Amino acid sequence: AAQLMSKRPTMNDVWPDEWGVYILDNESTATRFIDKKIKELDAMVLNLDTLIQMHLKWLSYLPRVKPFYAVKCNSTETVLRTLNALGTGFDCASKGEISQVLSLGVKPENIIYAHTTKPQSHIKYACAQGVNLMTFDDEEELQKVSRCHPKAKLVLRIAVDDSSSFYRLSSKFGAGLSTTGRLLECAAELGLEVVGVSFHIGSKCSQSLAFRQAIADARSVFDTKLLGFQFSLLDIGGGFSGKDFPFSEVINGALDEYFPFESGVQVIAEPGRYYAESPFTLAANIIAKRIIMEDMRTEGGILMMYYLSDGVYGSLNFLLRDVQVSPYLHRAVESSEKRYRSVIWGPTCDYIDKIVDNYLVPELHVGDWLLIDNIGAYGISISTEFNGFKRSSIYSVVTNETWHTLNLSSQ
Ligand code: PLP
Repeated sequence: AAQLMSKRPTMNDVWPDEWGVYILDNESTATRFIDKKIKELDAMVLNLDTLIQMHLKWLSYLPRVKPFYAVKCNSTETVLRTLNALGTGFDCASKGEISQVLSLGVKPENIIYAHTTKPQSHIKYACAQGVNLMTFDDEEELQKVSRCHPKAKLVLRIAVDDSSSFYRLSSKFGAGLSTTGRLLECAAELGLEVVGVSFHIGSKCSQSLAFRQAIADARSVFDTKLLGFQFSLLDIGGGFSGKDFPFSEVINGALDEYFPFESGVQVIAEPGRYYAESPFTLAANIIAKRIIMEDMRTEGGILMMYYLSDGVYGSLNFLLRDVQVSPYLHRAVESSEKRYRSVIWGPTCDYIDKIVDNYLVPELHVGDWLLIDNIGAYGISISTEFNGFKRSSIYSVVTNETWHTLNLSSQ
């Protein structure tokens, strides 16, 4: 908390009225808020205490690495405002994201435009706004930058081994190590400034050694010492788990080995899922129900089919990528209640809009509530209003204790 206190200058201006945050009474928790409000909700609940805890954990596990939150992962305004107040930077992928964070008071120097294939108009916008730090991985991009933002501070994104990640990015982005020399020559010929190296290990990385190798690869680019560039920035990208912090030892070890503190190299990262996943819980309700009496696959012949107010075209779109979720019933369930094989569908007319198959639960009724935890990464950003179903609204809550510890209530 002490670290936070020293980093909260902008909190004063914006918390709480403009933010629309619910400050929970003494003893209350986000879970109790859901209990109390559930009938009005049909929405996401954003627990700011969890978001703040994730930040504290980041500071203690990766003290040398400044996080630039990846806005694409979840651009909910309260998330951005809170992280800005806590002192993170922001990774933006487009003019739209840059404009959103600037409108919330983020300083241009706290933004990295971390997309290697940018529309020219977006590069010009970044230039006009004083957003200078941006990534590239190709000569064509360098040509565009020299036309649209010749004073940019460029970061060379390299392709790394992302085979241990669930979402792989290196097939689309990143310069191969054999091409980096030529790219740096090209930048020098164009009179551009390259300040560092970045990589992205892929989202949901499962192997700490992948980070180590990628950091070593970045070092090899620093070591080319080509053309008088003064590399001063290493960007280790995203890919961190939203639940725990399994890789910090390996990452810190690799940083100390390849980029020791005395080297003066600033280390940043672009975590998205790490921050956004765990603070969000979805509360959705059963809007329709069918009982299939002669289901051939089910013992006893009964299959329950329920239709939920949110689905794969809404905030659960990551289900289309083979991710699974575990909804649970909001009401208490007796162990003696009979369980039925059930399917939970989303609300639209499309048959792929399915949330869970083979789900064993007591009989549910229209109006019952299901909760799904850890739902904040990417789903909300990607959600659509297909079939005219509105996106879930978001309620942000913070405990009184956090409010007072961070001295937020005095404003
Ligand atoms: N940075 C870039 C350039 C990305 O493309 C992404 C995700 O696609 C991220 C950061 C965030 O990744 P993650 O959510 O795995 O931390």
